[in-house]
Amino acid sequence: MMYYSLQQQAPEVSFKEAALRGIAPDRGLYFPKQIPRFSAEFWQDLPKKDFKESALELMHTFTGKSIPIPELRAILEKTLSFEFPLIPLEDSISVLELFHGPTMAFKDVGATFMAGCLGYFSGQTDRKTVVLVATSGDTGGAVARGFLNVPGVEVVILYPKDKVSDIQERQLTTLGANIRALRVQGTFDDCQALVKQAFQDPVLFENQALTSANSINVARWLPQMLYYVRAIQQLPPGASRPVFSVPSGNFGNLCAGLLASRMGMPGAHFIAATNSNDTIPRYMESRNYDPRPAIASLSNAMDVADPSNFVRILELFENDFPKLSDKLSAFSFSDAQTLKAIETLFESYSYIADPHGAVGYLGLLRYLREHPDHTGIFLETAHPIKFRETVETCLNRELELPLQIRGLLDREKVFSDISTYEELREALR
Ligand SMILES: *Cc1c(COP(=O)(O)O)cnc(C)c1O
Repeated sequence: MMYYSLQQQAPEVSFKEAALRGIAPDRGLYFPKQIPRFSAEFWQDLPKKDFKESALELMHTFTGKSIPIPELRAILEKTLSFEFPLIPLEDSISVLELFHGPTMAFKDVGATFMAGCLGYFSGQTDRKTVVLVATSGDTGGAVARGFLNVPGVEVVILYPKDKVSDIQERQLTTLGANIRALRVQGTFDDCQALVKQAFQDPVLFENQALTSANSINVARWLPQMLYYVRAIQQLPPGASRPVFSVPSGNFGNLCAGLLASRMGMPGAHFIAATNSNDTIPRYMESRNYDPRPAIASLSNAMDVADPSNFVRILELFENDFPKLSDKLSAFSFSDAQTLKAIETLFESYSYIADPHGAVGYLGLLRYLREHPDHTGIFLETAHPIKFRETVETCLNRELELPLQIRGLLDREKVFSDISTYEELREALR
């Protein structure tokens, strides 16, 4: 499989090169040259098949010759080492929990898959690979964990001082080994600006391959399609047409679901559920793409005004708006609605959702109101403990600490403070 740049000004590349580069030289996102179609039988027989074998079949079409089958199988074995349970709340509403991985956020899947790929590629060269990533919270933890002890790869994470939660900071700073954390005096935007500057610095490229692990990388984007495959597998026989409500920020997760749909996954409709950052809901209404400055919200992993993966969604539908709007609905919800939804889910089903999942639930309710004959599935993208204060205050009760988090609390945070580009450069040498 070859990949082209959506800016059309760069050469086509293999999966390997797309994953190592992250973004094309013309600043475009990479996109697969063909969308493979899988037969109706493939999808119908899913419930009878082994999930990991199906995942291998699907992912192999995208990784092609870049990764031999045994290595791909081993990478998927690690990536899919935890469950994505589909839990029914009532007849027409189920929740697909994506947070059972090591950092309790759904980004574990993309980060672990990408780490596996880069680990394999680094075995083919003497050059050290440095993964540089800026995080506002969840990405850094998932990337750190995914890349821990991957040979030939060093990870440097930049995070804004006092702007990530205590748990998130511990996930970044307590691993050691090949993971280094830099605490930046500034905002998330400052972290991103520093990372950008490093990528344009020719001196840094001399001795090492510098790459990014943000969500536009094909190796992080593509494996997310497997959530939807796993959900379809778990549907009870005879379930009506499924509809997925996806809490969305940069739209990578939703785009992967739509990709599965274009590959023949039967019957599904999709809902983009956003917080007050409503660029896409407004676009679906008006066909006018008009991003406004990002607004801070309780579901802060989705505080994105200009979602980078939306161009991929347009490409998937060949920029044919009626075709897109047939598959995709989009709704936006306020923080007040989100808190109310967390309460409702607890009162009605004794289910504790995090603010992102709650936005997904709201999107689903909204769609089912007009389309009641569907099996509704909303994605829960983080464990509520990751947004502990919001959820505990909202429900007026204490959350239990899951095992993955308990182990972190008595470990020492290790980081370096930086505030300028010179300091970052020094740290990278
Ligand atoms: C990153 C994130 C999202 C948004 O996912 P996208 O693929 O960027 O749309 C939603 N929920 C949580 C908890 C996240 O960490």
